[in-house]
Order: sequence, then C-alpha cells, then structure tokens
Amino acid sequence: MTTIPSENAKVLQADWLVVQGDTLVAGGGLGIREGRVQAVLEGEGSARRLAERWGVPLQRLGASILAPGWVNAHAHLELSHLAGRITARGGFPEWVSRLLVAKERTPASQWPRSIEWGVTRLLQSGTTFVADIDSVGASTRDLGALPIRSRAYRESLDVHRPERTAQAIAGLSALPPAHPLRGVGLAPHAGFSVSPALLAVLGRKAREWGLPVTQHWSETSEEVRWMLWGDGPLAGWLGPSPQRSGLDLLQDCGLLGPQTSLVHGNHPQTGEPERLARAGTTLVHCPGSHRYFDRAPFPLQAFLQAGVKVALGTDSWASNADLHMGREVALLRQSHPSIDAVRAWSMGTEFGALAVGMGGSIGRLQPGCFADAAAYSASGHSQADVLEWLTTQAPMASQLWIGGRAAPLIGIDA
Ligand SMILES: [Zn+2]
Repeated sequence: MTTIPSENAKVLQADWLVVQGDTLVAGGGLGIREGRVQAVLEGEGSARRLAERWGVPLQRLGASILAPGWVNAHAHLELSHLAGRITARGGFPEWVSRLLVAKERTPASQWPRSIEWGVTRLLQSGTTFVADIDSVGASTRDLGALPIRSRAYRESLDVHRPERTAQAIAGLSALPPAHPLRGVGLAPHAGFSVSPALLAVLGRKAREWGLPVTQHWSETSEEVRWMLWGDGPLAGWLGPSPQRSGLDLLQDCGLLGPQTSLVHGNHPQTGEPERLARAGTTLVHCPGSHRYFDRAPFPLQAFLQAGVKVALGTDSWASNADLHMGREVALLRQSHPSIDAVRAWSMGTEFGALAVGMGGSIGRLQPGCFADAAAYSASGHSQADVLEWLTTQAPMASQLWIGGRAAPLIGIDA
C-alpha cells in the first residue's frame, strides 16, 4: 500500500456531509489528497479506516455540517472600503456618479486593503471562490496572495467614444502569470459602456488566450432603452448608440456562449431568456444588490422556465449591505418562495462554478473536485432540514479549507 505524505493528505468527518444539493451523507467524511477530494466516505468507520491507511489522524468535526464552499459569481472587491458610504438614493445613475467620484478620491494604497477586507468577509461566510471584476489592476495583482480561489476579470470600457477605445485595448497587452489559486478572465463592462469595436477586440483576445468572459447585462431599463433606441437619460454622456441589443453584439463577436456569464438580467426582452439557454450562457443574479437599489422583482421564473442556469453573486460592498453568500441565498429564497432548498443551494454553488468556467472542479465535493469546503457548527439537523437551514439562516463558517488547506477566518494576516 502506498504511504501518503501526511501534509498532503487529510480525512475529515462530520455529522452531515453535503456532497452536492441532492446528495447528503449522515456521518459522512472526505478523503483529501493533493488538494482534491479523493474519496467520499459513508460514515465514521470508513473515515477511520482511510485515515489509518493513509497514516493521518481522523479529523472529527463533530456537531457540524461539512459542505462545498459557496461560489460568489460576481463581486467588485476593490470597492469594499465604500461599504455603507454610497447611498442608492435617487436611483442607479446617481449611484454611479457618486461611485465614480469616490473611486477618483481613492488612493492607490487602498485597493489591496479593500480586496483583503472583502476576501476576509467572504471566507468568514463560507465562500471559497470569488469571481472578481478588476477595474484598477489590484485584483489581478493581489488576489493570488490571499487564501481564496478566484478569477479576476479585467474590466474594459470606452463608453462608445472612439478616442477611448485604443486606450482600453492597450490595457490588455499582457496576461498575468499563472497562479495555482487564481484564474483570469475578461470583463467588457456592459453593452452601454463598451463599443462594438472594443467588444470585437475583446472577443478575439478571449479566444486567443482561452479566457472566460463576464459582462453586466440588462441591469436597468435606461440601459436597454439607450442600447436599442439611443434615447433616454444615458444619451447625454455616451457616444453613439449601437441601436442593437447587448445579446446581438455579443453574438457578433462570438461571445454569446458557455464561456460567458451575464450579470443582472433585470430587463430581458421577449425571447432573450430562451436565447441565453440555447447558448449555454449562465446568468448571475445578485439578490443583495437588487434589494439595495429597491429594484422591481427579478424575473427569475422567466429564466428558469427557459432553462437558463442562474448563479448568484454579491456584487460590491458599495451596493450591498454585506459580502455574505449565505445571506444572498437566503434573500433569494425570501424573494422567491417557490425556489426550494436544493435549487437555491445549486445556484450558490455548482451553477456559480459553471458561470466562472470551473464546472465540475468547484461547487461540489465529489471525487476529483478541489477540496474547497466549509464547516458550520450545527447539531440536531435531520436529512430534510440541513439544506433548508443552510439556505435560509446565513450561518457563518466555523472552519474552511481551500484546496484542502485550512484557511484563516479572522484576518488574512493571522
Ligand atoms: Zn457588478
């Protein structure tokens, strides 16, 4: 029998193991090796036997639920220092104006600290992956030093002004070096802020570099109006309207497909949910941000009935009361009582994995998946209410593992 070096092997066992939404194991455990789940264990006996075979101690978590970490499919960690400082009063355009002023006043030394604050809160809430939008370069540079798996999507925009297109393209000149915990991607900001010329370049780069893409889409009715007809309140500060839908523009550039996630989708036009489903494009909904702006009810059923996979994200702390994925899932269930615990769980985990190009690697604890897991202190739960509790009570994690390594929950520097 091969002896496994103990620093690379771990056996965990808890009162409940959540492998994925529809697979729970009472008293189950995980055999973890080289950062990945090697075995799902059916009870304490099999966990003990594997620990003996590997020559490692069995880590009994006791009255706990061991589950895949949440997958946050949309965040702007660089804005975490603006928590509670930018009011939504007056609506989205006013919020954007205040945000731009606040960003202008932010010293460069603040960005890495903001990312660290955001990551700390995500880890505490049991989140093991974050898809982060990087508009200032800090996330691409600094996220890899933090103990969370991530993808930093570089943001590009030119607000449909040709004089800004070349500058946006120049910002894409090189890819950051590979990192074991950090992926990269491209983020053409939104249809109303990225010209067809810039989008075409981003589409070519995404193909050339093999990168996933994410874009804000159909967030406000003003945006849809300007995109299709060129009028409304956005007309004053943007260049010429393409007079086409965001989905048409993405399709022209080969970006309407499974490699792309779209964020928000609050105002889909007739047939657009079906179009996303056919393309295999994931939609990311941000319940806390939706509430922050007091938006009209999110048309979740239209997307689900069309067969679209809907993932969840926190958006930024400048437009949300918290960066807590369990809270996002709980808010989703409050706003959409017809969504059951299994579907809500999948939206917060494996559908997020699909959105960020990590399907089958994260969001589940099956053999072969990264061992990205959270434990929650809990006792007395039955099979029927484990997921109910996790998706309605927004518990804080008691322990966390990223790639099988324990991650700190209080202060990144600890
Ligand atoms: Zn966003």
